[in-house]
Amino acid sequence: MGRGVILLIGMLLASAPAAAALHLHHYTVSVDDELAMMNVHACFAGPPPQVLVVESLDAPGAFVEGKVAKGGHRDLAPNGTEMRLKDVPVDGCIDYSVNLHGGPTRQDFSGNSTRRVGRDLFTEIGLWFWRPATLAPDEDIVVDFDLPKGLSVSAPWEPVAPIDGRPAYRVGHGPYDRPAAVAIGHFHEVLLDVPGAQLRLSVLDGSPPADLHAMSEWIQDAARSVAEVYGRFPVPNPQILVMPGARASEPTPWAYVLRGGQGAAHFFVNQRRKLGDFVEDWTAAHELSHLLLPYVKSQDAWLSEGLATYYQNVVRARSGAISPADAWQRMHSGFLRAMRLARPGRTLAQATDRMFGSGGYMRVYWQGAAILLLADVQLRERSGGTQSLDTVLDRFGACCLDPDAEWTARRVFEKFDELSGTDIFSTLYDREVSSPAFTDLSPLYRDLGLVALGGKVELAPDAPGGAVRDAIMAPGPYQTPRALIGDAR
Ligand SMILES: [Zn+2]
Repeated sequence: MGRGVILLIGMLLASAPAAAALHLHHYTVSVDDELAMMNVHACFAGPPPQVLVVESLDAPGAFVEGKVAKGGHRDLAPNGTEMRLKDVPVDGCIDYSVNLHGGPTRQDFSGNSTRRVGRDLFTEIGLWFWRPATLAPDEDIVVDFDLPKGLSVSAPWEPVAPIDGRPAYRVGHGPYDRPAAVAIGHFHEVLLDVPGAQLRLSVLDGSPPADLHAMSEWIQDAARSVAEVYGRFPVPNPQILVMPGARASEPTPWAYVLRGGQGAAHFFVNQRRKLGDFVEDWTAAHELSHLLLPYVKSQDAWLSEGLATYYQNVVRARSGAISPADAWQRMHSGFLRAMRLARPGRTLAQATDRMFGSGGYMRVYWQGAAILLLADVQLRERSGGTQSLDTVLDRFGACCLDPDAEWTARRVFEKFDELSGTDIFSTLYDREVSSPAFTDLSPLYRDLGLVALGGKVELAPDAPGGAVRDAIMAPGPYQTPRALIGDAR
């Protein structure tokens, strides 16, 4: 690719930092009609990188062939998850192809793996995105998609102006091995406007097909509820994928957030369920609440899961999707189950470390939620109601949601303290994360007037912290339309 083209792309990227135009690598991705094979034409601005890397251990097996474009016909071949580039000239290009069918010896156990969803294709980018391991501050990658007529793409990266009519994205400076997915198929991306953001929703193929309008209403309602935490949705244009065909009775048996690109939430749904069942389910509120925080290292998952678990009930109570009493009941039930399942002598940090091995999710999710509830109550009480977890997240959202960054829970809590002018979060961290016991919630329950009667919780009318309790769940400006709730739809 010539300098002129690079400059032109740079000018098209109005939203990118000016420096990004200096070294803009350009990938064009194409697929065949059957979505069986992918061809990638990658051009490097300036001297080419010596080595390209890829995230998935399945990538070398899926790699079909590669060569240096023009400058001879030297074959490129991966060596594990690395590929050495030789004989690529300055500003030179390479071509390579990848088999999208996958093989029987899959190495990926995360569940986020390349697959067909009906007639459509879901790919982990780690299977095919051979790229420089790191990018300098003045370097970036633009990826555009040259697709057969009638096909669309959903990608998690920042959308930029189309290139010759092809949808294009700027990859940014996040770590190359952060999971991310690209879907290609017969869907049409729907843009959902919520305060502060435009969610990019794609609903993949299913039999029967999912109701696109219902899925849009469900996701938009959850996103608007989360946006009410501080008046704007935390991530400007996340990728939202809905994949029908999940085999389970719940409407959304499986969902997760990925942190590659701008951030993404993927929902595997039972499309036979009614819209009301989706709106009543907590999953979308949970996943979208994750985006209130940036990427937090997985050994600190108690923080990201705790925040999402806390807000999955709080935001739905505020929007009227569930009642405040129901929200407190759901929290109480969660705390009880987690306490019952907590292994004696194991700290929260240890439980988080072993979460993926031994299935100790309940402890991690609900103790995280308990810590955030404690922090929220203390902030509200010490400030006379002028501060809360919402106001801290608002300030945090203004400074600290760079999608490429990576945080530890301790750093997040130190920042929360700095933003609130308190030591509430660090004190809770020191007390809770290395404690072998589940958080003692009895003083908090007394204060808030949460009266536990076995598995049930009742709200006492005259508790000292009753006003704080009610303020946490108080109705917000956004209310879930009654027509979306329950059996109505
Ligand atoms: Zn979660």
